[in-house]
Amino acid sequence: MDRITHPTLLLDKEKLLGNIENMRRKASVHQIELRPHFKTHQSAGVAHLFRSFGIHKATVSSLAMAQYFIHHGWDDLTVAIPHNPRETSFVNHAFSPGVRLNLLVDHPDTIEHLNQTLDHPLDAWIKIDCGQHRCGLTWDDEARAASLVQSLKRGSKLRLHGLLTHAGHSYTVQTPAEVLTVHEEQLRRMTHARDLFAALGCKDLLTSIGDTPCATLADTFSPVDEIRPGNFVFFDLDQLFRQVCSWQDIAVALACPVIGTYPDRRQLVIHGGAVHLSKEQRRGPSGTSFGKPVLLDTRGWSEPLDADLTALTQEHGTITFHKMLDPSIKIGSLIGILPIHSCLTADLFPAYLCLDGNRLTKMRANE
Ligand code: PLP
Repeated sequence: MDRITHPTLLLDKEKLLGNIENMRRKASVHQIELRPHFKTHQSAGVAHLFRSFGIHKATVSSLAMAQYFIHHGWDDLTVAIPHNPRETSFVNHAFSPGVRLNLLVDHPDTIEHLNQTLDHPLDAWIKIDCGQHRCGLTWDDEARAASLVQSLKRGSKLRLHGLLTHAGHSYTVQTPAEVLTVHEEQLRRMTHARDLFAALGCKDLLTSIGDTPCATLADTFSPVDEIRPGNFVFFDLDQLFRQVCSWQDIAVALACPVIGTYPDRRQLVIHGGAVHLSKEQRRGPSGTSFGKPVLLDTRGWSEPLDADLTALTQEHGTITFHKMLDPSIKIGSLIGILPIHSCLTADLFPAYLCLDGNRLTKMRANE
């Protein structure tokens, strides 16, 4: 810690390993595949830790990310974003047939295009919209399902493997009970979609669901074959506020140097702004928060202080204490910030600094 000079993303590996073990156990109890989403950490070093739990399949959010993890020995990846036809030549040139690359499709035009331009056959999953309304075939749209199946049958380059959904609307609700309502609805809708495709002649399709809130809180998964949570590896305040995790589960904190103290208004200013944390925010009882301060020591961090990161510009953050400014924090001290959304914070850094002093580099370090 003494050597930290600028905003640095800290990783508590013990918490991270505990989070992976909890999710691994859940998948094992329910006999479902855990295909974690690596967009959260984007790090070969963190991915390597997953291997020690027997996890060999993963999810990514771009072909560039797939290429990075393949380079680090992963050979079964789902690209969980509808395929972008402008990248098909990249698929042809950069990915060997020996790697299992699962592509996502939800439009007959994308399927026609892939059938005409792919150099070798790949596995495809149809994205199903179970209520998020971002992308995907609406779960009960029979006419569109039939047209997707027709398009698949017209070519030989895509092997339909399964149906994949992401209940991202679990992030629009506030309580565990509401998350579980979203989850139960997605199970019903995926069952319906699977039966719809079976009636169209596509039998034995696998079903895959995403999101950390549902995967963490749920205790029933049938008919699901696979879960793809990503955020659970770090968790964050957004999950804490929704009671998906406890503060002890949050595995990353941003270490920020204190560059101003203003006791008359109970505020500190840190070097740590939107370029380090993103502008993710949450409205709580004490107003808008961009993160929660914690005290740092060599073993990690304290519970959240009675304070919030209340303002954020590009490089500066303003911490407001709700009662009294902590007198132990001085100019030049380091203070930790638990992020609102750890995926976006992690995305901004080239590496993690582990509490044991080791660095784990990320995909961004190669840019
Ligand atoms: N699957 C898809 C398609 C996603 O878009 C995401 C996250 O955005 C995930 C899985 C992982 O969900 P979470 O971030 O809640 O862990």
